[in-house]
Amino acid sequence: MQRLEIPVVSYNARTAAFMTARGFHRDGCGVWRDAAGHSFAASLAGKEAPAAATRTWGCQMNEADSETLRGQLREMGYVDAPVDDEADVILLNTCAVRGTAADHALGEIGRLKRLKTERPELLLGVCGCLAQMPETVEYLRRHAPHVDLIFGTNNLHDLPGLLQRAYRDEAQTVDVWDQAPETVENLPSRRAPGVKAWVNIIYGCDKFCTYCIVPTTRGRERSRRPGDVLAEVERLAAEGYREVTLLGQNVNSYGHDLGAYDFADLLRDVAQVPGIRWIRYTTSHPRDFTEKLVRTIGLHPKICEHFHLPVQSGSDRVLRWMNRGYSRARYMELIGHVRRLLPHAAITTDIIVGFPRETEEDFLQTLDVVREVGYDNAFTFQYSPRAGTPAARWEDPVPPAVKKERLERLNELQYAISRRKNQALVGSMQEVLIEGPSRKDPDVLTARTRTNRLVLVPKREGVVHRFGRVHVTEAQTWTLYGSLAEVEPGV
Ligand code: SF4
Repeated sequence: MQRLEIPVVSYNARTAAFMTARGFHRDGCGVWRDAAGHSFAASLAGKEAPAAATRTWGCQMNEADSETLRGQLREMGYVDAPVDDEADVILLNTCAVRGTAADHALGEIGRLKRLKTERPELLLGVCGCLAQMPETVEYLRRHAPHVDLIFGTNNLHDLPGLLQRAYRDEAQTVDVWDQAPETVENLPSRRAPGVKAWVNIIYGCDKFCTYCIVPTTRGRERSRRPGDVLAEVERLAAEGYREVTLLGQNVNSYGHDLGAYDFADLLRDVAQVPGIRWIRYTTSHPRDFTEKLVRTIGLHPKICEHFHLPVQSGSDRVLRWMNRGYSRARYMELIGHVRRLLPHAAITTDIIVGFPRETEEDFLQTLDVVREVGYDNAFTFQYSPRAGTPAARWEDPVPPAVKKERLERLNELQYAISRRKNQALVGSMQEVLIEGPSRKDPDVLTARTRTNRLVLVPKREGVVHRFGRVHVTEAQTWTLYGSLAEVEPGV
């Protein structure tokens, strides 16, 4: 496939040009202010210290995008809105991959109409994958005139200019780009507190699976330059982050547009960054997955031995209809590399059941793969069409009740395997990163193993965001329980 040369530009340089042309300069805290000391946000909202809120649906890529939106909002001078009623700007970062996420976002847009009616000065923006789809834009134009601003995934780095236009324009401001004409570096990011950070390494997707809307909403693949990724990881390490997750719709495709430098090379180089303790990545595609990658992970203890390798189906016919680009035999060959080179690694997957024309025989082949691999965990889905994808135009003779029943049978099998795998860990010591208090029980802390298993331990003061070792005493399908045996000193 012919790849386009995509220019790389600096967010800082471009934003500086935009801001200085309007008489704004950065203060010591990085906020853009005019000569009178008013922030850019204040100049837009017509009040001091306006407040903003963001809402996010969907995958880690969307979460990372929201961190970029919040980073830009902070540089403009917005403070956090504790509740919607106090927000001057609300941005809804939407997801188009799953119908439920799209429905929730559209429901939220409807719910905010009341607030917008009560406070017309509130600026309401919709962005993300759903906004990238022409039918959503049309829907919002017709049915949600209370939305002031609609923009897509390819121009979210332009937030200052977009907000300025939305404040100025009487009509709804719509600015959605089909493609990203450039890769923007040095994006500001406001990450969640803690020691874990996401780092985008590749944007877009060229795989065109027939059920997936992502190639439409995220555009063509473009890898960030290794030097830019490494510089970001080094900055994160200097700021105290200890775990990085390298992100992309298909991380295994990283570097296809860069010449002779691939994802395994990037992992090797990230593993050299001092201060970073654990490295994870998501999501993998079997088509681009290599034995070299498994070997690289085996050579570098910082890279967690967890392989999330979405199989989607165990039937070659269904895999062809899905345009996945591999056969069941090829997939099992890749699993074989993992089992041979890293026998203690965890393997997880994604599976769709009830794809159009999937027969009972196709489904039984999926169950065979699940048994043969013995996944530690699986994200399982009942197929539902996404508007704009090829599969959504096909006849679907699989009745909903059959899809549901297949999902239940698949889950029953997978849950039993997950439980057995977890129970095998009872009595072992597991290296963990302690995340924080459990949402359900403040006397309990949650931690994650290298293989991304959730572990609950009794609360102890002063250990959050530190690495330690847990003695596992009990296991259920999704959760391990144990006690903290060691905690490393903080950083
Ligand atoms: S690899 Fe397939 S499923 Fe994954 S984002 Fe690309 S098109 Fe969607």
